[in-house]
Amino acid sequence: MFWSRATRLYTRNALIYMYDTLLESVPATALGSNVMRKGALFLVVALAGSAMFARNLEIFFIDTEGGQSTLIVSPSGQTLLIDAGYSDYSGRDADRIADAAKVGHVKRIDYLLITHHHSDHEGGVPNLLERLPVGVFFDPGPSVETSAEHQRTYEAYLETVKDRDRRIVKPGDTIPVKGLEVTVVTANGGHIDRPLNGAGQPNPFCAGIEPQKDENAENARSAGVIVELGKFRFADFGDLTWNKEVALLCPENRVGKVDLYLISHHGGEGSKAIYGMAPRVAIMNNGPRKGGDPAGWKTVKGSPGLEDLWQLHFAIAGGSATNAPDPMIANLEERCAGNYLKVTAQENGSFEIFNPRNKYSKTYPAK
Ligand SMILES: [Zn+2]
Ligand SMILES: [Zn+2]
Repeated sequence: MFWSRATRLYTRNALIYMYDTLLESVPATALGSNVMRKGALFLVVALAGSAMFARNLEIFFIDTEGGQSTLIVSPSGQTLLIDAGYSDYSGRDADRIADAAKVGHVKRIDYLLITHHHSDHEGGVPNLLERLPVGVFFDPGPSVETSAEHQRTYEAYLETVKDRDRRIVKPGDTIPVKGLEVTVVTANGGHIDRPLNGAGQPNPFCAGIEPQKDENAENARSAGVIVELGKFRFADFGDLTWNKEVALLCPENRVGKVDLYLISHHGGEGSKAIYGMAPRVAIMNNGPRKGGDPAGWKTVKGSPGLEDLWQLHFAIAGGSATNAPDPMIANLEERCAGNYLKVTAQENGSFEIFNPRNKYSKTYPAK
């Protein structure tokens, strides 16, 4: 009976899960004997070996209490980490990255992209290096801010990367994660001149968007990326500011449609320019008291075609009216367990989101 189940399960993680549950849930008597148990194990391992190449894309949105850290595991097994959360708190954020890495069977970060030099994004880098090896570091170039807090984390970052492979990204660059297309679409205040393949249509939602006061500091310099696996597309623009996001998406939408959008700047702001990307699902990496601004939340929620908005935290400022339904929030309490949200995506564009807090998951079939 369980052989037919086995043939239906083809991803590496599903197989490992099946291996675990098979040996736990099927009593030894049902398997007949120890010999049969060993036979089942052999089959599962053999299937796992032959199915390694059929892995999905996995994205872990790690709770750094209002900072950012997003672990991307390619079907090839190579990894891209976007930001590393805060320093301090006894290495809390690096611990959470390491925990998610363990769940994803990740032993090494091949590429680390620091979107910009703010403590909630790059602060955790030195702690991370104590837990996981990192291959190549990417960032948008020297910091432009001089406050003591920024200097402290920026200098710690420079110290960490000084004898390592550090590369400065500019719009149009790619990050060579095997099995994925990762294109840098914004960096150091600029954006790609030419639209990505298939993009470049006029964005009908640009009319009437008022520019905001320019912010010529780190957030505006965020390195933003589009990550693609076949038809599945994910947009992560770090803390990109209102004017810069509008410049990327208006009057023509240079990045095209996306399935998944990480709401820029922890959900602190946001213009209707993002409607042009028509995200199916938005994820907000807010903390209990950081990001999750009710006005910004409402803007994203109103995006035409948006099926759901998931959050890393319940945003206290918003109350129930401007928060996602509880099952789609990874952490409800201010003093939380630091749950991540996990997205599993396939080449045909379908994806699933899983909340380990309540084991709730939802599938978004390919369109
Ligand atoms: Zn931030
Ligand atoms: Zn920032």
